[in-house]
Order: sequence, then structure tokens, then C-alpha cells
Amino acid sequence: MLNMTIDGKSVDTFATFDVVNPATGLVEAQAPECTPEQLDQAMGSARAAHTDWRRDDDARRAALHALADAVDGRQEELTKLLIQETGKPLAVAAGEVASAAPWIRYYADLEWPRRVIQDDESALISVERRPMGVVAAITPWNGPVGMWSWKIAPALRGGNTVVLKPSPFTPLSTLLLGEIGAEVLPPGVINIVTGGDELGKAMTAHPTPRKVSFTGSIGAGRSVAVNAANDLKRVTLELGGNDAAIVLDDADLETAAGTLFAFSMFNCGQICCIPKRIFVPSNRYDQFVEAFGAAARATVVGDPTDPATALGPLTTRPQFERVSELVQDAIASGARVVAGGKPVDGGGYFFEPTVFADVAEGVRIVDEEQFGPAIPILRYDTVEEAVERANATNYGLSGSVWSADEERARSVAAELECGTAWVNCHAMLPSHAPFSGAKHSGLGVANGEDGLRSFTEQQVVHTART
Ligand code: NAD
Repeated sequence: MLNMTIDGKSVDTFATFDVVNPATGLVEAQAPECTPEQLDQAMGSARAAHTDWRRDDDARRAALHALADAVDGRQEELTKLLIQETGKPLAVAAGEVASAAPWIRYYADLEWPRRVIQDDESALISVERRPMGVVAAITPWNGPVGMWSWKIAPALRGGNTVVLKPSPFTPLSTLLLGEIGAEVLPPGVINIVTGGDELGKAMTAHPTPRKVSFTGSIGAGRSVAVNAANDLKRVTLELGGNDAAIVLDDADLETAAGTLFAFSMFNCGQICCIPKRIFVPSNRYDQFVEAFGAAARATVVGDPTDPATALGPLTTRPQFERVSELVQDAIASGARVVAGGKPVDGGGYFFEPTVFADVAEGVRIVDEEQFGPAIPILRYDTVEEAVERANATNYGLSGSVWSADEERARSVAAELECGTAWVNCHAMLPSHAPFSGAKHSGLGVANGEDGLRSFTEQQVVHTART
């Protein structure tokens, strides 16, 4: 069994919880349940490690390179565990694992110039960025390896140490990452603890961390913000989305349909920032729906370890049940099923790629984040109306506009109330682009230089010269 990593050591496990393989629906592994004492040890070890870690940026950059190399060297094992716990198809899992090391190297290499506000005979005033201390990092089940790298790379480069907890549904790859980290980093710099939502709450309320970096649902994010407010911890919340993709009437429909289908079904629809509502002009609606449905029917659903598989299972039983419920609700509300519409027989949490037409607001699959392989296509008459409907939600993570005319698309994108607006693409997340959610989709910024800044506190150093 994989163990937790605390203070650079693999620690004893007193109790365990089940880890299910979503492709079979069977319990295939156990993970350690972190005790309150072990959480205290992890926090204490991170705090102790911070004293040296915070001081030497060059050493941190070198250590991050060593970590990236170590992760690269274990790609095969990580991919295997990731498939076992998430049900991601081989190429998707391998892609996620392969993305971790470059993400770490990006932060290791980022040049981060000091800001000098004044430098003259009367004063030298500079704006420095200082480490915060210990970061409590909490990740969801839809991208455990990717989210690990998104959090630890900027946190460590910024001079912080970390206690990280993955989702109880997908702890395995993160536990292995803890072991890999312990081989190359000083003890205590990254601690990995595993357990349920209560452990996340205990981390957020713990007096040691100065920052909570959380990725997950809006409900849990709200609870994190409330818990962290007691001692004014800094928080970054990357939360859910209900992204609108607006197809304009001049778009190449075949290309837009094919690409939007691929994005909306990526990782079985379980990505925060993929298209979840697609708006198509009335005069081109039927053509688009037909192309989208054809793509769904051509999708190979099945064993995630088979390289021919495009769509694996949903990752958790609750998510499988939720998607089944939303699909049933849409059908009962009169939505037209263009493709799919039901679970796939056999073991595991497989669901047919499902496309709905003739559906609109007021139906749950449109109004709520479905986080699964079921996508509604909505009809609109004017672009103003499409924008208004796209914005008529508390979600504000991202969105996209599709058009042959880049300028026209960019002007529509400017009207979208969301943290990222893509033009003729969706869910593109390079490490150097900041990522944030508007409205209920988040607080603070991740990724890029802004993401690094969010793991530091500002300190102004004002040196008088006269
Ligand atoms: P979740 O909120 O149920 O759980 C996420 C993590 O938080 C888990 O580790 C969980 O144990 C922990 N947790 C749960 N309740 C907590 C609490 N009250 N206090 C502290 N920790 C708590 O989310 P999930 O179901 O694992 O993930 C799916 C959600 O995550 C979707 O809504 C998706 O859109 C969102 N997500 C957002 C982003 C982003 O970058 N914006 C990225 C990935 C996923």
C-alpha cells in the first residue's frame, strides 16, 4: 500500500479507506486515513522546513528541476495509478502525467524581476515578494496529478512549504508523488496527507498554514473561505464552471462542432473549464446538431487501458449518479436526445456520450454544472441574446466564441462575464497564462506569474538615504 509522506518519511497507517476503480466499480486499493496527530505532524514539519526553504531562491530552483526530472522518471507508474483511480483513457492519463514536469520547470525558470519604485538620492524603495509560510493545498478528483503540479510548483518557488491533500476518490497518484518528492526535496517541504472532506476542513482551520489553495466545488470552496476567514488566511479558490461556447453564424460549423465536441467530452466531461452549454444560431442549428451528434455516435467508450478508447467511465459513483439524474431530468423536461442518453451496461461508471437539442434554460442540465459526458445545444436568434443568456448564471469560469472573423469574435468575447474567454478554442491552459474564475467560480488567480505572486506576500523595503 502507498503511504503518506510526512517530514520526508513514509508514515505508518492506523486506518485506511477504500479506493474504487471506476472502470470496474470494485475496490482495488486502500489509502491511509490521516489522523489529527499526523496532520499536526505534517503542519509542524512544513513549518520547520520553511525556515531554510524560504531563504535560497537558487536552491529552490535547482530543487524544482530535480523534482521535475524525478517525476518524469516515474511517468509510467504514475499513469497506471491515475488510470486505476480516475478511469481516464490511457492517452488522457499519460498526457496529464507528462504535463507535470514542464509545469514545475516553468516555475523553476520563471524570471521574476524585483520592482523598484524609487531609487534616488533620498530613498531606495523596492517592492519585494516574500514567502507566506505553510500552504494547505487541497485538490479534486478530476485531475490529481495536474492539480498537484499546479499547486506545488508556484507554492515552492515562492518559498513556501506545503501540506497537500488529494480527493479521497483519487489518492493513489498523489501518494506516489509524495514518495517521489521525498527522494529529492528536503524533508517537510512537501507533505502528502490523505483522507476525506473532514481532513480538508481540519487543514483549512489549522492554525499553521498562512494560505489555502483549493480546487473543487463551489460549495466546498465557500466552506473553505469561511473557515479560512477566522485567522485571515489567504485563499485561492478554483471552483466549478458552466462554460458557454457561442458559435457565431460565420463559423466553420463542421470544424466548430468537431472541436467543441472533443473539448466538451474531454476527460468524460469532468473538467472545470470545458464547454458545458453550446449556443448555436437558429439558422445553422440543425446542421450543427447533426455534426455534433455524429461525433458522439462515433466515440469509442470503454476500457481506459485500451489505446482505442476515447471515453472512459465517470470517476466517482456520486458523479455517475448525478449525471444519470441530470440526463433523466432533461429527458423528462422534453429535451431531444440526439445521441446517447443512458449508462453503458456492465460494471463501472460508464455513460454514453449524450447530446441534447431543443433544450433551454430552466432545465437542470443547462442551469447546473453537469461535469459529465452530457451536453445541451441551445438555439439563439441574436448574438446579444446569446451573450445575455451565457452570462445569466452565477458561474463565471470561462467561455468561448467561434467565428471566421477573429475581431468580431473578440468583441463578443469581451462581453462574456468570465475569467478566461477563448476565441476559436476552449480549455487551453498554458502554464504562463493566469487562470481565474469570475463570480462564484473562484477567488484569486492561479498559474503564470500572477499565480506565483498569489503564493507570496508583498513587502515594501524603504531605505532612507538622506
Ligand atoms: P469537492 O469540492 O467535493 O472536493 C475537492 C477537494 O476538497 C477534495 O479533496 C475534498 O476532500 C475536499 N473538501 C471537500 N469539502 C471540503 C471542505 N468543506 N473543506 C475543505 N476541503 C474540502 O470537489 P470535487 O467533486 O472533487 O471536484 C469537482 C469540482 O471541482 C467541480 O465543480 C469542478 O468544476 C471543480 N474544479 C475546478 C477547477 C478550477 O481550476 N476552477 C479545476 C478542477 C475542478
